[in-house]
Amino acid sequence: MKCPTCNRPADDTAVQCNRCGSDLKMIGDLQFRLSLLISHGYAALKSKELAQSRHFFKASLKIQHECQDAIKGLALVSLLENDFLQALSYYREYNTKNSHHNP
Ligand SMILES: [Zn+2]
Repeated sequence: MKCPTCNRPADDTAVQCNRCGSDLKMIGDLQFRLSLLISHGYAALKSKELAQSRHFFKASLKIQHECQDAIKGLALVSLLENDFLQALSYYREYNTKNSHHNP
């Protein structure tokens, strides 16, 4: 994760930024919850529990709006449901955000 104040990369277990002293505990908790939700989402996807999977990915997006893993997961869920248009729109969102972060 990164410090929200100064953008310095920080250890996931850090409670305070080494550079500016910002409190990272809450962000760490959120990151942890996010990674749990993502792994639950993909586990559900693997066992074809699509509704469950979507639920986990949507919850991930509530924590982090641009969460790439969640958007990718939602695209996969839509594909498995044969909802190609929806899958495509997630896929586009995924690509747009990717190119935004890595110009
Ligand atoms: Zn900082």
